[in-house]
Amino acid sequence: MSADVTGRADEIIRKLLGWYDREQRAFSFRGTRDPYRVWLSEIMLQQTRTETVGPYYERFLDQFPDVFSLAAAQEEQVLKAWQGLGYYTRARNLHKAARIIVQEHGGRFPGDARGLGKLPGIGPYTAAAIASIAYDEPVPAMDGNLNRVISRLYHFTHEITAPDAARTLRSLGQGLMPPARAGDMNQALMDLGATICLPGTPDCGRCPLQAECLALAQGDPAALPRIRARKPPVQVPVAVVLLECGGRVLLTRRREALLKGMYVFPLREGDDGPEAALALAQRADPGQTFVREETAARHVFTHRVWNMRVYSARVASRAALTGGVWADMETLKRLPLPVAMNAARQAAERLLLAGGD
Ligand code: SF4
Repeated sequence: MSADVTGRADEIIRKLLGWYDREQRAFSFRGTRDPYRVWLSEIMLQQTRTETVGPYYERFLDQFPDVFSLAAAQEEQVLKAWQGLGYYTRARNLHKAARIIVQEHGGRFPGDARGLGKLPGIGPYTAAAIASIAYDEPVPAMDGNLNRVISRLYHFTHEITAPDAARTLRSLGQGLMPPARAGDMNQALMDLGATICLPGTPDCGRCPLQAECLALAQGDPAALPRIRARKPPVQVPVAVVLLECGGRVLLTRRREALLKGMYVFPLREGDDGPEAALALAQRADPGQTFVREETAARHVFTHRVWNMRVYSARVASRAALTGGVWADMETLKRLPLPVAMNAARQAAERLLLAGGD
């Protein structure tokens, strides 16, 4: 790294840490260096807004205060505690990693980013975030925020998904890691990216790094970083059917990668018509001749959108279908259902309250 870049980096570190000391955002998951707590918050923050995480984090800690209690839990309890946060693979990996930490490391977390990165669900970003915050290891936590801020500070004009771009940005990020307070520096960069150096139009007038920012000097900060447009998510029609029998509704456990392990109502992806719903109902009761449309709902995943039509059918017997759970109202509330099923769950509750009429 040239003397010029290093000198500017020193100035960026000094100013940004000063700004962070004055302006850092207060969150309940900050201010700890306990690797279990830092890990939990970083996993929750992976795909959930920072403002949303706080209450979930506290509730989860009440239930699983340390890695031993988490490792000892059943997967279903962990998924239930995660309910509402979405992206449940995170919860399953959290649980798996807790078991590895307890069984293979006696309950002690690996002591650096490299070791942390070997655990399920911990990629390079999360490993760096945990290691820098918990152990002050000087590793940059490169995510969208850091890539954006660093692209602008250094006027990095290449497409950021191009080969070598990640390496260049990481090396610039590495140059911004002070020997002490690396965790604070990563969090300061994240805060700057989340509140001032925003995607779209950055609020440069409030930025503590105006004098150091090459994109501002060039007059084009909003044009950076250069990112290839993402493909729009696939629109998938989905028929969901609430099968009711004797005050219970049928839930099945997902085997597919999307929402794996979560309980859902019987559904068919690729078709939202009543015939698809009726075919599902007839697997429980071959004599079923109609379904009733209850409601419609839409759920956006990362790469796909479920456009759901929700139907109901009262079936004659609970015997015909095995492998699912016939849930009464209390069980319906207790089992982990994904947010995608919210509208269907509410319709099922109405159905149960009305006695299936
Ligand atoms: S001056 Fe503007 S573009 Fe540069 S780092 Fe600050 S907010 Fe971002």
